[in-house]
Amino acid sequence: MSSHLSQTKPRAATASSSGNTWQAEMKQAIRSATELCEFLGLVPHEVGAQDNDFPVFVPRSFAQRMELGNRLDPLLLQVLAQSQEELEIEGYVTDPIGEEAAKLAPGVLQKYSSRALMITTGGCAVHCRYCFRRHFPYSESPSGIEQWKPSLEAIRADRQIEEVLLSGGDPLILADVTLSRLLTELADIPHLKHVRFHTRTPVIIPARITPSLIKTLQSTRLNIWFVIHANHANELDGEVLMSLSQLRKAGIPVMNQAVLLKGVNDDEEALYQLCKRLIDVQITPYYLHQMDPITGAAHFHVPIERGKELIAAIRKRLPGYAVPRYVQELSGEQSKTVIA
Ligand code: SF4
Repeated sequence: MSSHLSQTKPRAATASSSGNTWQAEMKQAIRSATELCEFLGLVPHEVGAQDNDFPVFVPRSFAQRMELGNRLDPLLLQVLAQSQEELEIEGYVTDPIGEEAAKLAPGVLQKYSSRALMITTGGCAVHCRYCFRRHFPYSESPSGIEQWKPSLEAIRADRQIEEVLLSGGDPLILADVTLSRLLTELADIPHLKHVRFHTRTPVIIPARITPSLIKTLQSTRLNIWFVIHANHANELDGEVLMSLSQLRKAGIPVMNQAVLLKGVNDDEEALYQLCKRLIDVQITPYYLHQMDPITGAAHFHVPIERGKELIAAIRKRLPGYAVPRYVQELSGEQSKTVIA
């Protein structure tokens, strides 16, 4: 078995946080590299842990899925701030996919004619070190129903827009009452048909999928889609799979997008297990993204040739629908570029 898969090793088993509300999980999250290392029995300076201005934020139930004492745990690598993030590497920038140029209105981006993306919040359930928005100026984006009014008007004014992507940050960090009001406003725009949630929260804090949230999602005339974000099979434990199946049972299609990351999933077995675990609960492995060259994340880079090899290898082992499209987002392009 690959070193990337470590199902049988001891996990960070302090008191389980399952049973906590999602709000309690957010409040009690680990907020520094040192605290995260201590939680896992690691010595911060030995693993290159070093906080910076993109703070560590890791709910304990997610940290509990990591292997105690393993500095190379594929979940830990995604969230631990390290000194190598400070390196300045040529080609790595703060806005790698040209979002600044795609602004339709404050808090609304439009890259494709039929879709618009709303930056609903700067908050997330976890801080991923490779995040392409880790330098995004969230403070300039509106937040809350009153402030979103100009964004909603911009969407209303463009009849070509049929789908709104709710992004951030992570839209599921918003309270149900706020989401409900936003969905009501969106449903009032006649030409809108679909709302797509881009969210990592169900993977990080599965307790976020509550009966009340599901009721909110089912109460709109709009088609709701979920695109979740998991990069490794170890993220998808029993609680996560159960929450995701509740979404599916509620009639909400769920797809996954992953990012190809060195040390996390740049390995045939790791990628195979991720896709297999997803399809076993009827979640489509939708995209595998070539990582955007964001400042601070160069150590996660995987060459495109290696990505192609991996896709070819898993294609031999999985049905076609279980193989994600390997894509790259290039600044200024009208759509994602399919690599394989
Ligand atoms: S959850 Fe998504 S938006 Fe938030 S830090 Fe991770 S990759 Fe970025």
